[in-house]
Amino acid sequence: MRPMQSSAAFLGHPPSGEARPAALDARLDRVRQLLGVDGAALAFAGSQAMQILWQAGVSGQIAKDLAELHAHAAQGTGPLVIADTGRGAVRFYAGIPVTFGEGEPLLLSLFDARPRSAAMAGQLGILAQEVFGGDSEQRSQAMIVRLESELAEREQAIADLLATRRRQLELFERASKTARIGVWECDLSDNSLTWSNGVYDLFEFPVGSVVTREETLRCYSDASREAMERARAKAIAECSDFSLDAEITTVKGRRRWMRLTGTVETRNGVATRIFGMKQDITEEKLLADRTRYLAEFDVMTGLANRSQFQARLAELDTRPIGALLLADLDNFKQINDTYGHALGDECLKEAAARLRDACPAAELVARIGGDEFAVLLGHETTPGQIEAVAERIVAEIGKPFMRLGQMLTLGASVGVAYPDGSPAPDLFKRADTALYAAKAAGRNTSRTFHAGPQHTVN
Ligand code: GH3
Ligand code: MG
Repeated sequence: MRPMQSSAAFLGHPPSGEARPAALDARLDRVRQLLGVDGAALAFAGSQAMQILWQAGVSGQIAKDLAELHAHAAQGTGPLVIADTGRGAVRFYAGIPVTFGEGEPLLLSLFDARPRSAAMAGQLGILAQEVFGGDSEQRSQAMIVRLESELAEREQAIADLLATRRRQLELFERASKTARIGVWECDLSDNSLTWSNGVYDLFEFPVGSVVTREETLRCYSDASREAMERARAKAIAECSDFSLDAEITTVKGRRRWMRLTGTVETRNGVATRIFGMKQDITEEKLLADRTRYLAEFDVMTGLANRSQFQARLAELDTRPIGALLLADLDNFKQINDTYGHALGDECLKEAAARLRDACPAAELVARIGGDEFAVLLGHETTPGQIEAVAERIVAEIGKPFMRLGQMLTLGASVGVAYPDGSPAPDLFKRADTALYAAKAAGRNTSRTFHAGPQHTVN
């Protein structure tokens, strides 16, 4: 066998004596390109041993496989087209009988490392035959011209398609930036990740960099990582979808919340890939947190608000408490009248802070009205401790303090009531009665409602 070369080259002259090797060489190579195959070889058909006249893309293992296929094709009289040889370096093969004038019969082998579908292989075989089958030089030239123009059309169509895809991708990236959304996928065979720009931006990794799954896991808060791994493992096991909100710290140290969705793709019942979306929902989360805060807390003092207090009071049956204390500032209207509303607000804040400090073990400290506060003490609190808390509240709020250049003194009256199994409104009413008694006793003091056949307050 003659030495093999990998680039297109004429190794001899066609036996017809036609002295146009360069033109034929170029034509053969052009046909190879037009048909979109890795390589081609022109050899004598008569002999089973492959005597090559011209070749392109032939080297190493390909040469061995090709010689075998050539021998096989040379046995027949017509073309031999194999869509997929099923093994080796040559997967697609077409052997086309070719003659030049009176010359010896030749065999043009076209081959590729990729197999073709049966339909595609058949078409390639027919095309190759149309170009080189028989011996009509003119026909082959005309076919090349036709193929050239078809190829140009196809190249243009591919260029148009690529331009459209690029535009669509740009549009997608722009839209996802606005929606702060990105697409992700994880190949389950090696856990490698593929992200759109939106996900890089979300984690603040450089766009396009290679990021491992371990690196992204480090960004999750512990609770979110556990929740995500649990949801992901379940989705993989059940080949289903999952979705959750997760808290992350970006590689630049910013805390963010993202909404994560994932869909598991399977092949033959085995999970192979997970893909989905990640959306930055930090602002939405902050807004929701703020809304929840506003619904449950008093903005001015930071204490629980009336509705949180009432919700807790409504649970008395299932979550008992030790006592309810109501505290109301004494003669607070005068503070407002004397120093103005703004300083009045400062006093309310000061009173709230002192109230909280006076009962650190309380289950709930709430501002339930203008200058009215409520304290719920846990069910394990003893009556002695409860009375002590009431006295401490009166003492702490009564201490003078400086605010905006003014020396101020507040006072508070406190009413205490113990639960006795009656409904929450009853308990509230009794604490209020005790508070009224404290006010009536001259203010700046506390009173306790004692239940019994004859209710007493002292
Ligand atoms: P008493 O000793 O009987 O409690 O008399 P009081 O002057 O404290 O009167 P009361 O508790 O009935 O009224 C509370 C006053 O607190 C009414 C209002 O002027 C004032 N107040 C209510 N909410 C606010 C507020 O948000 N800011 C300020 N500065 N004052 C408030
Ligand atoms: Mg008052």
